[in-house]
Amino acid sequence: MSEAPRETPETGPAEERRSPAWWAIAKGMGTVFKQTFRADNTERYPKEIVEVPERSHIGRHLLNRHDDGLEKCIGCELCAYACPADAIWVVGEDNDPEAPVSPGERHAKDYQINYLRCIMCGLCVEACPTRALTLTNYYELAFTSREDAIWTKERLLEPPPPLGTDPIDREG
Ligand code: SF4
Ligand code: SF4
Repeated sequence: MSEAPRETPETGPAEERRSPAWWAIAKGMGTVFKQTFRADNTERYPKEIVEVPERSHIGRHLLNRHDDGLEKCIGCELCAYACPADAIWVVGEDNDPEAPVSPGERHAKDYQINYLRCIMCGLCVEACPTRALTLTNYYELAFTSREDAIWTKERLLEPPPPLGTDPIDREG
């Protein structure tokens, strides 16, 4: 009975399918060469602001109002419960029938979002039953103190300015 040919690391079936080492090195060097000479696509932010789609939801929140000026937020706290980062603080209160803040029985007496915690996941927006809370395309959220990072209801009710108009230091 003749003995089956011995497989060595160089002749085994798996080894036959493997590319030689020099080919892997050549491919790697090719990638390095390609990346070294490719066109520069660095954004010159913040000196040049690239427009983002108007309805992109990548930036700060907005508390919306109805056309008559009443706040859409009814202080239900569902957004705060939905938030995985515990970034929202809501205190609800009954509306004064003579001077309601929102339609219905209740409104948000206090509303805060802590942008030190927020991860921009949008779950709060999904949870809101009145579409009072939305995300905007305003991503310029630089701050230098804890106080600045906590946005109050008054700030959140203000629509964001156009991108690039925030009075931050643009010299880098
Ligand atoms: S976007 Fe996400 S992390 Fe930020 S406040 Fe809403 S639920 Fe919380
Ligand atoms: S923003 Fe929406 S979910 Fe949050 S308290 Fe107001 S109504 Fe409720």
